[in-house]
Amino acid sequence: MCRICEGPIDQPRAVIHLKCCPLVSAIPPNLVNLSHLDCSGCTRLVSIPYTLVRLRWLDCSGCTDLISLPPTFTWLQVLDCSRCYLLTAIPSTYAKLRALVCADCELLASLPDTFTLLMRLDIASVLGMPLAGVHP
Ligand SMILES: [Zn+2]
Repeated sequence: MCRICEGPIDQPRAVIHLKCCPLVSAIPPNLVNLSHLDCSGCTRLVSIPYTLVRLRWLDCSGCTDLISLPPTFTWLQVLDCSRCYLLTAIPSTYAKLRALVCADCELLASLPDTFTLLMRLDIASVLGMPLAGVHP
C-alpha cells in the first residue's frame, strides 16, 4: 500500500514517495505539479504519465516492468533507473540531466549525446556502453 493505492489525491502535490509498493500499476496523470517522484521498487508499474512535466527528480529503480520513459520530462535533473530491465532508451530530451544511475539496465544500448550536463554517471555493470557525449 502507498499513497496512490489509498485513494484519489486531490491536493496539488510536489513530492510523492511510493517506494516498493507491489500493487500500484499506474500513477494518476493529473499529478502535474509533481517535481519529486520516488516509485522505486514498484514492480507493476509499466509507464509513468507523460503529463508529469515538472519532474526534476525521479527514482524508478527496480521498476522491473517499466517499458519506457516519456520524452516530456525535459526538466529532469536526477534519474535513477537502475534495474529497469526492460528499458531500451533514455529520451534525448532529458538535456538537463545532471545525475544518472542506470546500473543493470541490460537493454540500454547507448546514451544520447545531448546529456552534456551529466556530472555523475553510474552504469555499474553496464559494460561496453558507448559514452559519447558524457563529459565527467
Ligand atoms: Zn500502493
